[in-house]
Amino acid sequence: MKQVFESKEYCYGCGACAKICPVQAIKMKADEEGFLYPQIDEKHCIDCGKCSESCPFVVRNHYKNTKQPTYYAAKHRSEDVLVHSASGGAFTALSDVVLAEEGVVYGADFDQDFSVCHRRAQNAAERNRLRTSKYVQSDITDSYRQIEHDLLQGKSVLFSGTPCQNAGIKAYILSKNLEKNLYLCDLFCHSIPSPRIWQDFLQFLIQKHGAITAINFRSKNLPWSRPNCRKAFYFQTVADQKERVDNRFLRLFLEEGVIARPCCEHCQFTDTKRVGDITIGDYWGIEKYDVNWYDPLGVSLLLVSSEKGERLLEKSAEQMFYEQRAKQEALAEQPRLREPIKFSPKREKFWQDYQQCGLEQILNEMK
Ligand SMILES: Cc1cc2nc3c(=O)[nH]c(=O)nc-3n(C[C@H](O)[C@H](O)[C@H](O)COP(=O)(O)OP(=O)(O)OC[C@H]3O[C@@H](n4cnc5c(N)ncnc54)[C@H](O)[C@@H]3O)c2cc1C
Repeated sequence: MKQVFESKEYCYGCGACAKICPVQAIKMKADEEGFLYPQIDEKHCIDCGKCSESCPFVVRNHYKNTKQPTYYAAKHRSEDVLVHSASGGAFTALSDVVLAEEGVVYGADFDQDFSVCHRRAQNAAERNRLRTSKYVQSDITDSYRQIEHDLLQGKSVLFSGTPCQNAGIKAYILSKNLEKNLYLCDLFCHSIPSPRIWQDFLQFLIQKHGAITAINFRSKNLPWSRPNCRKAFYFQTVADQKERVDNRFLRLFLEEGVIARPCCEHCQFTDTKRVGDITIGDYWGIEKYDVNWYDPLGVSLLLVSSEKGERLLEKSAEQMFYEQRAKQEALAEQPRLREPIKFSPKREKFWQDYQQCGLEQILNEMK
């Protein structure tokens, strides 16, 4: 069968190929691990090669900025924003600049069933739903045409997501020559977990506790720190509305290292040259370099890689404190600026056990 990718390790699942295909011969379909991959309908394919010519994996560094970034520590001025953000609230400050200019913002939201997909926000209330990290690969399929439509209407657009999603959007928008008003905001990305394991984990929680009303992967109930972010998963149920903790999904992701997408081990975006105009993450270890910057509600690390990014940061100054910092601090604290994740040798066995016995048994054995 014809494939856009050589093997699953070489596909980010960004969906740019499916959008760029001039005869719509490519559809994104989930595999047995729940990750989306392009499937070519050979009856319709005209062999134009546009899918692989634009694929972020195939063209490697093509979508990265050529400029080396400038490094910043940043923190939102509002305590309420810090509480409701994963790190230092940089996303809120940057997206507010775009919203204030009547632009629109795209980011990862929970659907009604808590699956994760990208959504468009045109005001602060809609944008607030995009706040905080959802550690599941988000479906960006619908964003491509919406972003194209917004840019054609002359709106400014801020897209936020993983570096590979940013590369997919950039590929599509460049192919339409519409990049002028597009701001790209990529994340430091540890790796991206399986939507299928997430759905099974949700079902497990619902069976045990009843319907879920709220989820937070990055609760600030514990002080913001790298070790605490592994224990920060909270949820609420219809039954009692009290915050409950179950960190087993986070453990599978961050400690066991068994549920990430296969391509994450081959990720080409784990370096200092970035796809985004601005890259956002956690300023882990800031207390070692400048204790005055530490805040138990979080501090952001920003990399600014283009003039667009610089303009956006300058305009966010009313909302956010920021200060230029040394590149070495970020390199020391962020492994994903140096190399991709190395999968655990347990990954293969995890998926065999999962296919044979299901997630519930694996979770029960983790207790
Ligand atoms: C899968 C994943 C891995 C990450 N790995 C690292 C890491 O190794 N090191 C590090 O420092 N930071 C990492 N981050 C980024 C960090 O967790 C924060 O998202 C980032 O610092 C932004 O925080 P904030 O306070 O500025 O904004 P917030 O208001 O918390 O905004 C969160 C931003 O993340 C985006 N987002 C949330 N979930 C997803 C998703 N599933 N897919 C795509 N985009 C999403 C939203 O659209 C929004 O722009 C990761 C985030 C994700 C989603």
